[in-house]
Amino acid sequence: MKSYYKELWFEVPTRRAFINITPEVEKCLAESGIKEGLLLCNAMHITASVFINDDESGLHHDYDVWLEKLAPHAPVSQYHHNGYEDNADAHMKRQVMGREVVVAITDGKLHFGTWERIFYGEFDGRRRKRVLVKIIGE
Ligand code: ZN
Repeated sequence: MKSYYKELWFEVPTRRAFINITPEVEKCLAESGIKEGLLLCNAMHITASVFINDDESGLHHDYDVWLEKLAPHAPVSQYHHNGYEDNADAHMKRQVMGREVVVAITDGKLHFGTWERIFYGEFDGRRRKRVLVKIIGE
């Protein structure tokens, strides 16, 4: 069995953003040389997510509005966590949007359903953060 990993770095200039990282993940898969197996992709920070959905800007706007309703950033005084930090909302947004995705690899390609793409969800940006890509198979 072959094994491969790479850490991808991101520095989002805004507090929140959704980034299509599918091309970077496909590059990892090509580098790995693995044709059949499983790919794990996870955020390595507790205020960021990796998830799969549609690459459609209206939907990403809707996510942002929905997440702000669920866990508004301000006022930061509403959160106990913010006794030390101002990012309690980012932890909660990450919890809802998830930590990782697993994608099957078939014939050297990510075995997606229709319209599926991989996204990095940033909820407390303006600093360097990592995403892990781990691939196992043959
Ligand atoms: Zn925090």
